[in-house]
Amino acid sequence: MPLEAALCTALGVLLAPLVSIIVDRAVEREPLVAELRCPRCSRTLARRALVPVFGLGERCSEGHRHWRYPAVTSAMAATYAVAGYRFGFTWQLWPYLVLFAALVAMSIIDIETKLLVNIITYPTLAGFLFAVLALSSPNGYSDGIAPALWAGGLYFLFFLVVHVVYPAGMGLGDVKLAPSLGLGVGWLFTETTAAVERMMVAVILGLLLGGVIGIIVQRSRKAEVPFGPFMVLGTIIVIAGTVPASL
Ligand SMILES: [Zn+2]
Repeated sequence: MPLEAALCTALGVLLAPLVSIIVDRAVEREPLVAELRCPRCSRTLARRALVPVFGLGERCSEGHRHWRYPAVTSAMAATYAVAGYRFGFTWQLWPYLVLFAALVAMSIIDIETKLLVNIITYPTLAGFLFAVLALSSPNGYSDGIAPALWAGGLYFLFFLVVHVVYPAGMGLGDVKLAPSLGLGVGWLFTETTAAVERMMVAVILGLLLGGVIGIIVQRSRKAEVPFGPFMVLGTIIVIAGTVPASL
């Protein structure tokens, strides 16, 4: 569905400043106000910085540039393209658009602070779980509930076990993110086995991407690499490659 993908991409780009504000405030640990700060010196940027696309080049009075706003915009465009391509303008599109915005915000915050903040992980899980439970049956998709819950529950359990066995390798934030990702993959299926299988593909993909890219980044920059964004990436790739059973 190329038209829907294009329109959703545009929507993602339009919403990117809003997501940037959320990321900005979470990184600075401040209440939500509609402004952007320079990620390097925390100076408030001109209001122009909030204009989609045109605000991307805006710099602070010190002339600092940063990768954050362009990264948020690119990630929003890419993930919203996937959602529009896969779901078209169906009832199931909207919960995934909200989920993807939250996943983009979490990934960027995780890359900057090495934290998956509760203020986003909990509402994301609660919101998407509510969508699965409340929207499935009215749309004739009650068969989609059990696979989503199984995939979400098992993804959570798997990461919980890894965290308990090897806390240094798997943070508690990753464990809290896991069930949302499992729900996102599982809700595409009406058969639990298929949902759990594809959920495992997403996990393995995330582990491989995180392992390979993590080693490369660690060698070249001696920086610690957060794992959350790779879990998200693995999940988005799997969703991009799956035809939803609701269609
Ligand atoms: Zn600055």
